[in-house]
Amino acid sequence: MYIVPEAAIADLITPEASFDAVEAVFAAMARGDAYNFPVIREAIGHEDALYGFKGGFDQSGMALGLKAGGYWPHNLERRGIINHQSTVFLFDPDTGRMAAMVGGNLLTALRTAAASSVSIKHLARKDATVLGMVGAGHQSHFQLRAAVRQRKFEKVVGWNYHPDMLPKLAETAADLGLPFEAVSLDELGAQADVIITITSAFSPSLMTAQVRPGTHLACMGTDTKGKQEVETSLLASATVFTDEVAQSVSIGEAQHAVADGVLKGADIVQIGEVINRTHPGRRSADEITLFDGTGVGLQDLAVASAVLDIAIERGVAIEVDF
Ligand code: NAD
Repeated sequence: MYIVPEAAIADLITPEASFDAVEAVFAAMARGDAYNFPVIREAIGHEDALYGFKGGFDQSGMALGLKAGGYWPHNLERRGIINHQSTVFLFDPDTGRMAAMVGGNLLTALRTAAASSVSIKHLARKDATVLGMVGAGHQSHFQLRAAVRQRKFEKVVGWNYHPDMLPKLAETAADLGLPFEAVSLDELGAQADVIITITSAFSPSLMTAQVRPGTHLACMGTDTKGKQEVETSLLASATVFTDEVAQSVSIGEAQHAVADGVLKGADIVQIGEVINRTHPGRRSADEITLFDGTGVGLQDLAVASAVLDIAIERGVAIEVDF
């Protein structure tokens, strides 16, 4: 088996390669060639940590395995390491033998940013020029970098619950050559053609009345039961797309709309159907499209497999007799 350490990942994968891997696996899911296993996520009663597994099998990409990891809220302050910690384990689908252990921290950010970027490519209006960012934490920078590749954005408007975090996001926008304006949520909704929400909130920040017709939203922060970023009625007035319907209705942004009876699981469209052109995606310039990005194990396996191939090719993967 091979080991690809976390420290090696940054030199091995590009945002473009992450995008291609995630777009391909979403398409495979919609064709029925790939499926995710039920998610396990547990509060382990130690260090206030949430720990779990996301896994699956992609028969077209021959990727089998899981990502193990979670969230240790005291890591940064107590140990100087990031709070999200994860590792991807890949297995040989022909034999069940362990194939590789790949650092999953950077890959998680890249595959999450790739997912919203895929949704923007396939669902946002072609003439979108203003990008709205709700959230300014660790993931938001990756989200911003991946989003700007999809449309000719001329400006970024941002809002964050903790306003002191916004200047760092403004730096990322500047790095991308884009002007950045810190705004209220009213102004953000009034200006933005595409909105990414990437917060850890448990109650809605963005309200339905703040979102204009024609907006595309990528709601990326809600990946756990109870979390929520946008008002429930927004999902009733939008066409809702997702990575995986089972996760969307249980741990994604749609969980609240479904529980309130304003949205049915059957009405939520897998983004892979749009990629495969079995669903038309956006139907009019006035339609609100909303992508509920819950984060599936197959995304992790896809990017980890891509990294492993490059790592072996470049002689960076450490081979271990196991
Ligand atoms: P972070 O801790 O670095 O940032 C958290 C963000 O949420 C900050 O912008 C913060 O100001 C904001 N926030 C905190 N409390 C809030 C509140 N009450 N109301 C509104 N905003 C609030 O976290 P991160 O690493 O950037 O992750 C953000 C979210 O994305 C988390 O919920 C994480 O679990 C989720 N996530 C989702 C996926 C996926 O695949 N969908 C992948 C990775 C992370």
